[in-house]
This record gives sequence, structure tokens and C-alpha cells, in this order.
Amino acid sequence: MAHPLHIATPLLPSATLSTACGRQVQLKMEALQPPGSFKIRGIGLACQTHAQAGKRRFVSSSGGNAGLAVAYAGQCLHIPVTVVVPQTTSSHAQALLKQYGADVIVHGSTWNEANALAQTLLGPQDAFIHPFDDPLLWAGHASMVDEVITTGFTPDAVVTAVGGGGLLCGVAQGLAQHDLGHVPIIAAETAGAASLALAMQTGAPAALDAITSIATSLGAKQVCARAFALSQQRPIISHVVKDADAVSACLRFLDEHRILVEPACGAALAAVYAGADLLAPFKQVLLIVCGGATCSLAQLQGWHATL
Ligand SMILES: *Cc1c(COP(=O)(O)O)cnc(C)c1O
Repeated sequence: MAHPLHIATPLLPSATLSTACGRQVQLKMEALQPPGSFKIRGIGLACQTHAQAGKRRFVSSSGGNAGLAVAYAGQCLHIPVTVVVPQTTSSHAQALLKQYGADVIVHGSTWNEANALAQTLLGPQDAFIHPFDDPLLWAGHASMVDEVITTGFTPDAVVTAVGGGGLLCGVAQGLAQHDLGHVPIIAAETAGAASLALAMQTGAPAALDAITSIATSLGAKQVCARAFALSQQRPIISHVVKDADAVSACLRFLDEHRILVEPACGAALAAVYAGADLLAPFKQVLLIVCGGATCSLAQLQGWHATL
């Protein structure tokens, strides 16, 4: 495979998060990826694979970080990208997509309508890039664990945010590749987007009626089948935080580490900031700072004031 589209990110010890939870916490700084989140790892690999197979256009229906990663990958590979988004997608997000050269089509009032149109656009030379339910994505995301292990740090717990579960599948795959399938993954979600928590409580794949969290990047009503299967096969600890705590964690992280992330990432940060009990059984904690490019400081402050 050609040179990857993602960068190798730093692994940083965090004195402040370590003090907050009383464990040794290392940050995997996926917020530093060029399009702003870890998603370029898996989506970059998927796009490179489709390009090699002769696809001539990438189509996405994500107005969030997945769409941004597809747009960035298309720009890197000189392949046109079409992103269909609903009217609810902010003009800021649309501008970011266009900045990477994507054609943005605004259609429908919900993601379902935008996605339905995107599906009708697909011809034989087009590749549709799913935001989380694709083994190519999981293989790409797994590379972040390879990088961590290469540094000599072996975590005894990993904390990560969960939306549709692609990141979770990738982290689990990466750990398994290094014989660390026994290392628990703490799966953080916000209340109102806690689709993995629902499936684990139900003991079967299950869908939320609606997404009511501000952490839109975690807003999958149902996790992918592989994520649920993993929760039945390997240690996964579900942890749900309030939106307000995710936002506060983002603001605190910005002060302490000078990096702005979305509330989706704030869910994982909040789990560690308040993690004295949750993390008590562990010594060396890997925290995936998954990032996210779709929210501004003003938005975080607005949520902080109103939640
Ligand atoms: C997509 C995303 C997530 C969730 O990833 P899934 O693979 O959908 O579970 C978390 N944080 C950010 C910033 C994201 O963009």
C-alpha cells in the first residue's frame, strides 16, 4: 500500500489527567491528524484501497469528521468527492468540506434523506465510504495501537469514545494484534447517544429511538454488529457521561493541553478526569484523544453556559 494519508501522532504523558484520576495516563493525540480526527486512519486506508481498485469518485453522507476525512483523502489522492448532507449541517461544516475541494449537496431535513440520495448517486466507478461499519476502517484505525506499542508503552486499560463503534473495533483489533486482547477497553458515550450501553444492557443489538446528545459525532442510533459482538467477546466497560461533563472536560483539556476537541472526545476525557474509581484497577491508562474539527470554542462556551 502507498504511503498512508494519516500521520503518526504523538503519545504524550499527561500530568494533569494522571493527577486527576491517580493513574499514569498517556494521551494518543489523534486530534492532531490533518483533518482533525482519527477518522483519516481508516477512511484514508479505505479510500486508497478503492482508488487502487479503480474507483473514480468517493461519496459520503457525513457532514461531520467522516465526511471531512473523505474530502481530505480525495484531495490527497486527486479523486473527486461528493458529500450529501442534510439541511441541519452547519455552514461551518459545509465550508470545511468545500475547503478540501468536495462537492457538497444539501438535501433533506434528516441524515436518512441525505444518505438515501447519496445511495442513488452511486455508479460502478464510485465508492461509498461508510463512517464506521467497514473492516477497512477498523484495520486503518488499528494502526494507532501499533504506534503506541512501538513506543514501548503497554497499557493495561484503554479509554475511548464510542459512536457507531468503528473506533472501538479498530482499537480492539490493534490490541489483539499485540496479544493484548485481555486489556479492558473503557467505552465512553454521552447520555442521549449511548447506543453501545443500550446494546450491552439489552444483551442484543438495539437501536436508540433518537439522538438527544450534543455530541453529534457519537450520534449513531445503533452500533455496528462487530462492536456489539466485541462487547460479548472481550472486556469492554461501558461508561456514560453527561453532555455537561463532556463539555467541561473539553474546556479543561483546552486549558491544560492547549488543544480544542469536540464533546464526542470530551466523553472520553470526562471519564478519565472523574476516573478515580473507574480506573482504580489499572496502572497505565491509554486515553485516545480522538479529536474532532466541527466545533468552535464559542460553541463549547455556549453549551457550558446553558447545560
Ligand atoms: C467518529 C467520531 C467518534 C466515534 O467514532 P465511531 O467510529 O463512530 O465510534 C468519536 N469522536 C470523534 C471526534 C469522531 O469524529
